[in-house]
Amino acid sequence: MDTSKLKITFIGAGKMATAIAGGLVKSGKYTPNQFTATDKSEASREHFIEKSQVTNIIQDNIQASKFSDVIILAVKPQQIEEVCKEIAEVCHDKLIISIAAGTKLETFYKLFGHKRIIRVMPNTPMMVGIGASAFSMGEQCKETDKDICLSIFSPVGKIHQVEERHMDAVTAVSGSGPAYVFQFIKALADAGVQQGLQPEVSLDLAAQTVLGAAMMVSLNQGTPEELTKAVTSPNGTTYAALCCMEQLQFKETIYKFVEAAANRSIELG
Ligand code: NAD
Repeated sequence: MDTSKLKITFIGAGKMATAIAGGLVKSGKYTPNQFTATDKSEASREHFIEKSQVTNIIQDNIQASKFSDVIILAVKPQQIEEVCKEIAEVCHDKLIISIAAGTKLETFYKLFGHKRIIRVMPNTPMMVGIGASAFSMGEQCKETDKDICLSIFSPVGKIHQVEERHMDAVTAVSGSGPAYVFQFIKALADAGVQQGLQPEVSLDLAAQTVLGAAMMVSLNQGTPEELTKAVTSPNGTTYAALCCMEQLQFKETIYKFVEAAANRSIELG
């Protein structure tokens, strides 16, 4: 679709808004003058300008929303209600995209008085253009709204459409997921140090291993099971490690902490 005339406003110019706007400008799919952003904090405004190349940044949410086609709500969930109430009067005919964790479509229907809302769950690797996001469409979205959503989030990663009832699972897998992987990288690197490696070398080897393995899955080089089999010789080193992982219930442990995140997401919703 032709997005060259689309005007987009970010309400809240923090980390995620900076990642999306910066990524879109970098991708060449959008130009900086298509964006407006608002933020109450001077530090956030300065950071956003520096990182995204978007200079049209103001403090007035209503003014910023008035002349845009799409409003991206990128404030913290606790600020969502206040912000929506503030801008609702100028958003009757606009597509609203929320990236706030936990806030349901139903809540936005009430706050805006219409159902042209898309709820997106992104994650922080979007900052390096390798995000993993999922979205659910509100009941009054037009078919072109989905294309608009894809045009905004696919340049900064992958995005899947899901039913809204699956958003807690998405939050638990990919929303909170980067933290699990950071913990894994840290533990793998520390274990390497324990085996005698230099910390910088071990951290780099661990991070690059996760990156490379993830790329192999992402590029359909095989299923995780097939790829595991391919690096495991009978009674070899990987086999010894895998036996130990099984004994320690590695998989079951992951199920448990993902379930904890999903349950917390349900509680917050
Ligand atoms: P952030 O704190 O970096 O950015 C939020 C910005 O909103 C801040 O700069 C703040 O000054 C500004 N703000 C607050 N009140 C405002 C108002 N009334 N008007 C205008 N601006 C206002 O937060 P973030 O990490 O970018 O998260 C943004 C949203 O993305 C959140 O709702 C969060 O749930 C969601 N999200 C974050 C992550 C993550 O890992 N960071 C992942 C998925 C979803």
